[in-house]
Amino acid sequence: MPAEAQVQAKKVIALDVDGTIADLATQIMKIVKERYGVELTMEQMTKYHVEELVPGMTRPEFVDILRQIWGNYKEIGLVDNQIPQILKDVHADYEIHVVTAAVGTDDQIKDWLRINNITYDKFVHVARQADKQKEGADIYVDDYFEVAKQVAVLDKNVIIIKQPWSEIDEQTILSSHNRIVVAQTWIDVRELLLPKMLRK
Ligand SMILES: [Mg+2]
Repeated sequence: MPAEAQVQAKKVIALDVDGTIADLATQIMKIVKERYGVELTMEQMTKYHVEELVPGMTRPEFVDILRQIWGNYKEIGLVDNQIPQILKDVHADYEIHVVTAAVGTDDQIKDWLRINNITYDKFVHVARQADKQKEGADIYVDDYFEVAKQVAVLDKNVIIIKQPWSEIDEQTILSSHNRIVVAQTWIDVRELLLPKMLRK
């Protein structure tokens, strides 16, 4: 038996981009203020579908804002400046697949990942959030609670990054397969993923 066949395959993390590692919210708030004269604070970003928060904004208009933001992707910051190091640490034990439904082009998203030193093994650009479950990863890291619900029925583990718009339904967590965990911060994500022996 070849040596490499004895090595246990690493578990796969499906890592979301928008709202999980890429701070789209700051850019959304900027453009909403310019175009609609509505000033939203981060705490007021309580809907994943931002058009529900801005009078007169339609879904296509919001998607257009997201497209504009990805068009200027160099302006997009990180959700947490520690993410690149945390992913580097986590990569020792996991395979990382970036699985995103972002409206940016492959080139835009990949260049953003490069600029921000995001460690990953595979890039998967899906058409819709619902397609993420097809990736068949072991652990999903996402900011959208609908993804958690879609994936949890497949008996997968989900770590939801707590954001004002996460719309986390505690009841659903309790009645699911107990595989949904809410991380308050990326430090929590590190704690959840790294082997126990590294935790003091
Ligand atoms: Mg997201």
